[in-house]
Amino acid sequence: MYKNILFATDLSDETEYVINKVRTMRDFTGAKLNMIHVVEPMPGYSYAYLGIEDIEGQLIEEARTALAKLAGELAVDKKDQWVEVGPTKSKIHAIAEQIGADLVICGSHGRHGLSLLLGSTANAVLHGAKCDVLVVRLPEEHKK
Ligand code: AMP
Repeated sequence: MYKNILFATDLSDETEYVINKVRTMRDFTGAKLNMIHVVEPMPGYSYAYLGIEDIEGQLIEEARTALAKLAGELAVDKKDQWVEVGPTKSKIHAIAEQIGADLVICGSHGRHGLSLLLGSTANAVLHGAKCDVLVVRLPEEHKK
Protein backbone atom coordinates (compact mmCIF):
# COMPACT_ATOMS: atom_id res chain seq x y z
CA MET A 1 0.00 0.00 0.00
CA TYR A 2 1.07 3.63 -0.34
CA LYS A 3 3.78 4.82 2.03
CA ASN A 4 4.49 8.36 0.89
CA ILE A 5 1.74 10.64 -0.44
CA LEU A 6 2.23 14.04 -2.06
CA PHE A 7 -0.87 16.24 -2.01
CA ALA A 8 -0.76 19.03 -4.62
CA THR A 9 -2.96 21.95 -3.65
CA ASP A 10 -3.80 25.21 -5.39
CA LEU A 11 -4.91 26.54 -1.98
CA SER A 12 -8.37 27.39 -3.30
CA ASP A 13 -11.73 27.15 -1.51
CA GLU A 14 -12.49 23.86 -3.22
CA THR A 15 -9.52 22.31 -1.49
CA GLU A 16 -11.62 21.46 1.59
CA TYR A 17 -13.45 18.85 -0.46
CA VAL A 18 -10.18 17.29 -1.59
CA ILE A 19 -8.70 17.50 1.92
CA ASN A 20 -11.29 15.09 3.27
CA LYS A 21 -10.30 12.56 0.61
CA VAL A 22 -6.61 13.08 1.36
CA ARG A 23 -7.18 12.62 5.09
CA THR A 24 -9.16 9.43 4.49
CA MET A 25 -6.50 8.02 2.16
CA ARG A 26 -3.71 8.88 4.60
CA ASP A 27 -5.58 7.29 7.52
CA PHE A 28 -6.45 4.23 5.44
CA THR A 29 -2.89 3.62 4.24
CA GLY A 30 -0.97 4.96 7.25
CA ALA A 31 1.25 6.75 4.71
CA LYS A 32 3.41 9.78 5.39
CA LEU A 33 1.81 12.92 3.96
CA ASN A 34 3.61 15.76 2.14
CA MET A 35 1.97 18.85 0.62
CA ILE A 36 3.03 21.07 -2.25
CA HIS A 37 1.91 24.39 -3.67
CA VAL A 38 3.68 25.84 -6.69
CA VAL A 39 3.95 29.57 -7.31
CA GLU A 40 4.26 30.33 -11.02
CA PRO A 41 7.01 32.90 -11.70
CA MET A 42 5.79 36.44 -12.50
CA PRO A 43 7.18 38.20 -15.57
CA GLY A 44 9.42 41.14 -14.67
CA TYR A 45 7.13 43.82 -16.15
CA SER A 46 4.27 42.93 -13.79
CA TYR A 47 6.32 44.20 -10.84
CA ALA A 48 6.53 47.67 -12.34
CA TYR A 49 2.94 47.59 -13.59
CA LEU A 50 1.49 46.70 -10.20
CA GLY A 51 3.83 49.02 -8.34
CA ILE A 52 4.78 46.23 -5.94
CA GLU A 53 8.48 45.64 -5.50
CA ASP A 54 8.64 41.96 -4.79
CA ILE A 55 5.31 40.52 -5.82
CA GLU A 56 6.77 37.02 -6.20
CA GLY A 57 8.24 37.18 -2.71
CA GLN A 58 4.85 38.22 -1.36
CA LEU A 59 3.11 35.40 -3.21
CA ILE A 60 5.59 32.92 -1.77
CA GLU A 61 5.05 34.25 1.76
CA GLU A 62 1.26 34.11 1.37
CA ALA A 63 1.50 30.59 -0.05
CA ARG A 64 3.68 29.47 2.90
CA THR A 65 1.16 30.85 5.38
CA ALA A 66 -1.84 29.30 3.59
CA LEU A 67 -0.08 25.96 3.18
CA ALA A 68 0.93 25.91 6.84
CA LYS A 69 -2.71 26.52 7.83
CA LEU A 70 -3.85 23.65 5.62
CA ALA A 71 -1.01 21.48 6.92
CA GLY A 72 -2.27 22.12 10.44
CA GLU A 73 -5.61 20.58 9.51
CA LEU A 74 -3.82 17.47 8.25
CA ALA A 75 -1.05 17.34 10.87
CA VAL A 76 1.67 17.63 8.22
CA ASP A 77 5.17 18.45 9.50
CA LYS A 78 6.83 21.75 8.55
CA LYS A 79 9.60 19.85 6.71
CA ASP A 80 6.97 18.09 4.59
CA GLN A 81 5.38 21.34 3.36
CA TRP A 82 6.74 22.42 -0.01
CA VAL A 83 6.32 25.82 -1.62
CA GLU A 84 8.13 25.84 -4.95
CA VAL A 85 8.55 28.44 -7.68
CA GLY A 86 8.41 27.38 -11.32
CA PRO A 87 6.19 25.55 -13.78
CA THR A 88 3.52 23.76 -11.70
CA LYS A 89 3.63 20.41 -13.45
CA SER A 90 7.40 19.96 -13.46
CA LYS A 91 7.77 21.15 -9.86
CA ILE A 92 5.17 18.63 -8.68
CA HIS A 93 6.98 15.86 -10.56
CA ALA A 94 10.38 16.99 -9.27
CA ILE A 95 9.31 17.03 -5.61
CA ALA A 96 7.42 13.75 -6.01
CA GLU A 97 10.66 12.15 -7.22
CA GLN A 98 12.85 13.92 -4.66
CA ILE A 99 10.81 12.63 -1.73
CA GLY A 100 10.11 9.23 -3.31
CA ALA A 101 6.34 9.72 -3.38
CA ASP A 102 4.38 6.66 -4.45
CA LEU A 103 1.08 8.55 -4.79
CA VAL A 104 0.27 12.10 -5.90
CA ILE A 105 -3.20 13.43 -5.08
CA CYS A 106 -4.74 16.42 -6.84
CA GLY A 107 -8.18 17.79 -7.68
CA SER A 108 -9.83 17.35 -11.07
CA HIS A 109 -9.80 21.11 -11.55
CA GLY A 110 -8.74 24.11 -9.55
CA ARG A 111 -9.82 27.68 -9.06
CA HIS A 112 -9.31 28.45 -12.74
CA GLY A 113 -11.76 25.72 -13.73
CA LEU A 114 -10.02 25.46 -17.07
CA SER A 115 -11.72 22.22 -17.94
CA LEU A 116 -14.96 20.69 -16.74
CA LEU A 117 -13.49 17.22 -17.07
CA LEU A 118 -9.88 17.32 -16.03
CA GLY A 119 -8.00 20.49 -15.14
CA SER A 120 -4.85 21.21 -17.07
CA THR A 121 -2.65 20.63 -14.04
CA ALA A 122 -4.34 17.34 -13.15
CA ASN A 123 -3.96 16.19 -16.73
CA ALA A 124 -0.30 17.17 -16.87
CA VAL A 125 0.51 15.59 -13.51
CA LEU A 126 -1.20 12.38 -14.52
CA HIS A 127 0.69 12.01 -17.76
CA GLY A 128 4.22 12.73 -16.61
CA ALA A 129 4.18 11.07 -13.21
CA LYS A 130 6.48 8.18 -12.31
CA CYS A 131 4.07 7.02 -9.59
CA ASP A 132 0.32 6.59 -9.18
CA VAL A 133 -1.88 9.66 -9.32
CA LEU A 134 -5.25 10.02 -7.61
CA VAL A 135 -7.37 12.72 -9.22
CA VAL A 136 -10.23 13.64 -6.89
CA ARG A 137 -13.21 14.50 -9.03
CA LEU A 138 -14.80 17.68 -7.74
CA PRO A 139 -18.60 17.70 -7.60
CA GLU A 140 -20.80 19.75 -9.96
CA GLU A 141 -21.30 22.66 -7.54
CA HIS A 142 -17.54 23.28 -7.45
CA LYS A 143 -17.31 23.74 -11.20
CA LYS A 144 -17.24 27.32 -12.31
P1 AMP B 1 -6.25 23.19 -12.45
O1 AMP B 1 -5.38 22.62 -13.48
O2 AMP B 1 -5.90 24.61 -12.11
O3 AMP B 1 -7.70 23.06 -12.83
O4 AMP B 1 -6.01 22.39 -11.08
C1 AMP B 1 -6.25 21.00 -10.92
C2 AMP B 1 -5.62 20.53 -9.63
O5 AMP B 1 -4.20 20.62 -9.76
C3 AMP B 1 -5.97 21.32 -8.37
O6 AMP B 1 -7.16 20.87 -7.76
C4 AMP B 1 -4.74 21.03 -7.50
O7 AMP B 1 -4.86 19.76 -6.87
C5 AMP B 1 -3.61 20.98 -8.52
N1 AMP B 1 -2.97 22.30 -8.68
C6 AMP B 1 -3.35 23.33 -9.48
N2 AMP B 1 -2.55 24.38 -9.35
C7 AMP B 1 -1.61 24.02 -8.43
C8 AMP B 1 -0.48 24.69 -7.85
N3 AMP B 1 -0.15 25.95 -8.20
N4 AMP B 1 0.27 24.03 -6.96
C9 AMP B 1 -0.03 22.76 -6.60
N5 AMP B 1 -1.09 22.08 -7.11
C10 AMP B 1 -1.87 22.70 -8.01
